Amino acid sequence: MQINRDRLVADLETLASFSDDTPPGISRLVFADADQRSRVWLKAQCSDAGLAVREDAVGNMFARWVGARPQLAAIGTGSHIDAIPHSGKFDGTVGVLGGLEAIRALQQGGFQPQRSIELLLFTSEEPTRFGLGCLGSRMLSGGLTSDADARLKDAEGNTLAQLRAAAGFQGSLDQVRLPDGYYAAFVELHIEQGPLLEKEGLPLGIVTSIAAPAALRISIEGEGGHAGGVLMPDRKDAFCAAAEIVLAVEERALATGSIDTCGTVGKCQIYPGAVNSIPSRVEMDVDIRDTDEQRRNRVLREIEQACAQVAARRKLQVRVTPINADAPATCSPRVINALVEAAEENGLPYKKMVSRAYHDSLFMARIAPVGMVFIPCRGGVSHRPDEYSAPQEIETGARVLASTLARLSQV
Ligand SMILES: [Zn+2]
Repeated sequence: MQINRDRLVADLETLASFSDDTPPGISRLVFADADQRSRVWLKAQCSDAGLAVREDAVGNMFARWVGARPQLAAIGTGSHIDAIPHSGKFDGTVGVLGGLEAIRALQQGGFQPQRSIELLLFTSEEPTRFGLGCLGSRMLSGGLTSDADARLKDAEGNTLAQLRAAAGFQGSLDQVRLPDGYYAAFVELHIEQGPLLEKEGLPLGIVTSIAAPAALRISIEGEGGHAGGVLMPDRKDAFCAAAEIVLAVEERALATGSIDTCGTVGKCQIYPGAVNSIPSRVEMDVDIRDTDEQRRNRVLREIEQACAQVAARRKLQVRVTPINADAPATCSPRVINALVEAAEENGLPYKKMVSRAYHDSLFMARIAPVGMVFIPCRGGVSHRPDEYSAPQEIETGARVLASTLARLSQV
């Protein structure tokens, strides 16, 4: 079995050419022009490889290599091709095109799978358009109902129903959920999006669990006024309260004592936002993630308590609204084992690790045994135009993925 490295790298370059950004920046907003052109191209690649292609109502694409025993549950692999504004060409795409190349390599090596092997392209892994990540895999696993059609809107007010219809995806969202037992296993190849593999000089990371984010929106209502006119003891400065809450987020996340707990305030808006005006209102979003759901939820509660204390002490209003709280996923020992065997068969060292970023596999884990394999990316950089994995590293990922799919597809 031989991975065609040049073909895989050329495919990644072709996909990168479908972009709404100027190179080297990549941007592919789901259902927008570059995303649509990418889908057309990818479908043609899959058809050329003899795969049977279908799409569901939300635009998830399935390209199936029919096995000798097509009645058995299939083996899935894949990832996403949408890209946040001004990002790179490897996030998600390595899993889609690496999966396609793994299938082509197995075909050309004369391998005949028992179970069917299916390549997936998930719709909108990135939350850019609808404010909610993993749209496609959430629906496949039953995590969203058909009311999402009207409820999910982009910044221009277009609904999911309008946007998917315009992109050519018809039918009820109720039909998207996959039946139980559809996949016997699902494996996702992805760049690490962290620095550990590169630092340790390892070509592979085998994921044992996927951390899940929870997000809170915190709204602080204080009192505005003139930056000179209102005396300091009389103030209800919303941003001073926000500052205390931000530090509480950091402190509570560190206090668990686990390196797997992360707390981030990545978004904060101050009103009215003038140098000579006391902040009257602050809106901020808090992201807490962990591989241990109970520990994560404990941190969420502690942050809410901290908010209440700050509100009482500073005599202002703090409202905490949960935005989402997904459950972390544990990878399947059987899939992990297949990945380990594939790495060892290819003489490749690896480390078992936690995925601190979330992926479509987080949601696929609700309906199938999942595994993930990481390859290094330079400097751990992702979601930036200088995101980079070397051709050799990508080839290695595709090779291990191919060996793993081959193992899992035999009954
Ligand atoms: Zn990704």
